[in-house]
Amino acid sequence: MTTSTSPTSSSSPLAERLAAVRGGIADAARAAGRAPEELTTIVVTKFHPASLVRELAALGVEDVGENRHQEAQEKAAELADLNLRWHFVGQLQSKKARQVRRYARVIHSLDRSSLVDALASDEAEIDAFVQLNLTDDPARGGVADRDLEPLVERVLETPGLRLLGVMAVAPLDEEPARAFERVRRASERVQRIAPGASAISAGMSQDYREAIAAGATHLRIGTAITGNRPTLR
Ligand SMILES: *Cc1c(COP(=O)(O)O)cnc(C)c1O
Repeated sequence: MTTSTSPTSSSSPLAERLAAVRGGIADAARAAGRAPEELTTIVVTKFHPASLVRELAALGVEDVGENRHQEAQEKAAELADLNLRWHFVGQLQSKKARQVRRYARVIHSLDRSSLVDALASDEAEIDAFVQLNLTDDPARGGVADRDLEPLVERVLETPGLRLLGVMAVAPLDEEPARAFERVRRASERVQRIAPGASAISAGMSQDYREAIAAGATHLRIGTAITGNRPTLR
């Protein structure tokens, strides 16, 4: 993040939570012997109104994440003046893929070849992560471990996509440190076929410290910064 926070707005609860998480991230990075600047923090703003995203932007946030296409599309349009980087982090229907390309700079959830194919384009490349499913439940999203390499190869041969690395969500019933160790090993496998794709998108409000310790480069943090999500559905 390049811009400094404005002192006048630093007293809001949102500003305080953002500062606390930034501090927690910096501490966890230093504890892991890593530089905080090498981490990208994406504030996941799903269910929150565009006005909250605007407040975050005023506090210096440049990367925001959404998990539903329609909501993301509306907010990106409403906030087009802000020059935010939109990250799509949710499960994505192939028929919506081309629309997501129009506003998202990064898609974190490539999990099947049909979705990769739907994102093929001769236009400018967008960045993408292959999502690894750390559970046995296909409904959780992500590619099964055994299908990781074929999917990576598919991304590499698809025009319009630049593979950054691997993304995962820690299962509810596993120690985050163990889960993220599995992600780290998956990242090594990815880099064997895609040497530049060394990024790891992992770590949420409850487990970003463990993710940083395991090498995460992109953190996706919602409630610890935004506060509880309004229940919209
Ligand atoms: C909602 C969401 C997050 C953020 O979760 P919090 O627990 O609120 O930090 C991160 N990643 C994905 C894929 C999400 O859907």
